[in-house]
Amino acid sequence: MIYFAFQNPLTINQILLVIIVLVEAVRIKNYHQLDIILKKTSEMAKNKSPNKILIVEDEITLNETLSYNFEQQGYQVKTAFDGHEALALARNFEPDIIILDIMLPGIDGLEITRILRKESGVPILLLTAQGEEIDRVVGLELGADDYMAKPFSMRELIARVKALLRRVKLDQPDNPIQPSEQLTFNNLMIDENKHEVLLNGVSLKIKPKEYDLLLYLCTNSGKVMTRSLILEKVWGWDFDGGTRTVDVHIRWLREKIESDPTNPTRIITVHGVGYRFDG
Ligand code: CA
Repeated sequence: MIYFAFQNPLTINQILLVIIVLVEAVRIKNYHQLDIILKKTSEMAKNKSPNKILIVEDEITLNETLSYNFEQQGYQVKTAFDGHEALALARNFEPDIIILDIMLPGIDGLEITRILRKESGVPILLLTAQGEEIDRVVGLELGADDYMAKPFSMRELIARVKALLRRVKLDQPDNPIQPSEQLTFNNLMIDENKHEVLLNGVSLKIKPKEYDLLLYLCTNSGKVMTRSLILEKVWGWDFDGGTRTVDVHIRWLREKIESDPTNPTRIITVHGVGYRFDG
């Protein structure tokens, strides 16, 4: 059974999942569940269609290098060299992920991020000039999912793209590990089945990472969670965007769920430590 499950190439994430499941299954001796999950993992590898990637970069050589490397990795690649072309392709090609340079002719990468975030949740990885920390912070605030500073290692960029795509897939409803709960805190309800947050019965427009963060804080209600722990649990151990990312997302969440975001009563700042969800 295990031999057949590995006949198709698995991603690192899938291999890790299998190892975790093996350890857990041996521990609880639930071999039936192990079999089901191994079959599911194998199906995920078989049914994988190529990921569509849009590369937006006006430096022709860099654009070609990126394009070549992602094609070699089995991605379906489209390239854009200016902001207008990028927006048109983002809408027509419907990529699974966008690598987006900030300094572009036409419309810059930050403005493109702002426009696209109103239209879709497509993961965006920004390419920033070295030392331009302000661009990174603004980019993340506008809704970019990750960034890399130039010059970067191609291997690291490919790893980051894969990590982002993995996170998006894990957010999708065919994730084999299905949550099945509703968490209620007074007028706030989190429906894990629908990936939905309701305030006074009204569904909130909430981004995937905000949802993950809120769910993580709620399931640890009353406990202080450090920024670095939140970063690891919500963004993953391979994310190195810095704890400022946590603060930015907390601020967005407060704007959505607090009656007075400047004087929060639900998500409490514990100075020098992190955040605590008080219900
Ligand atoms: Ca550029």
